[in-house]
Amino acid sequence: MPSTTPYCGRFAPSPTGALHFGSLIAAVACYLDARSNNGQWLVRMEDVDRPREVPGAADGILRTLEAFGFEWDEAICYQSQRTEAYQAALEQLQKQGMIYPCGCSRKEIAQQGRLGAEGIIYPGTCRKYLPTERKARSIRVITHDKNIRFIDRIQGEIKQSIADEIGDFVIHRADGLFAYQLAVVIDDVYQGITHIVRGADLVLSTPRQIYLQVLLGHPTPTYAHLPLAVDTAGNKLSKQAQSLPVNRKVPLPALLAALRFLHQPLPDEQPTTLDEFWAWAIKNWDIQRVPQQSTQPLTG
Ligand code: GLU
Repeated sequence: MPSTTPYCGRFAPSPTGALHFGSLIAAVACYLDARSNNGQWLVRMEDVDRPREVPGAADGILRTLEAFGFEWDEAICYQSQRTEAYQAALEQLQKQGMIYPCGCSRKEIAQQGRLGAEGIIYPGTCRKYLPTERKARSIRVITHDKNIRFIDRIQGEIKQSIADEIGDFVIHRADGLFAYQLAVVIDDVYQGITHIVRGADLVLSTPRQIYLQVLLGHPTPTYAHLPLAVDTAGNKLSKQAQSLPVNRKVPLPALLAALRFLHQPLPDEQPTTLDEFWAWAIKNWDIQRVPQQSTQPLTG
């Protein structure tokens, strides 16, 4: 049953290469969830991390989405054009006394910090003050020892103590760029996103994003984290297997494979056009059927 609550979803690829099958799954799932709830669906190009951008990748991804029959509402939002908004958020956090400059190098952090959920936990060296002889490199957010909890529509209850498991995290990087964690929060608000459907590789980031939303006084969207593909022994598939680009010229087999991966029912007769595929897939989308983990190989 389509819900009556307002729904705005988004697909937010990073232009670090061609659209691969792992991202196609995310695109298909967030599109179907939005459309089956009569929602809007927006695309945001997450090109905040300029050094990782591959020239031509952003256009290539958009052309592939078009070739697969995705239709987005509104103009595409490019993070590379949103610096002022990120700066304003940084200033707000500064006024709140929630951020501090950090002069530690990666090497120093690696030597002093213990290993956490996502790499080394920053040991808090510069939290009290930055010694005058040290140059500020990055800007970090103060985390409090408080559990962040949310109910994921697929993964169920997720809890994390950011202070214990992640530590004070960077929102402005040593290379002068804003970090993904801040940019994503500011842009989800800017675009009016109410529902986020994305890969489970980001589930550990969500508590940081909720934390920033709360600090900045923004609403928290609902989250659904899609299964990551694992092999039959339960191991995560290699980056290589996940990053096979999809073939723009033959969209239907890859779209059907994405539905299969998401444990959605498949039409009795193979659809012959994209319109037919999407009409069927939107009508039959059921997020309850999406497994928490999948053992199905990620190949189109
Ligand atoms: N840009 C991220 C990626 O391509 C996705 C971010 C998000 O969905 O929040 O992995």
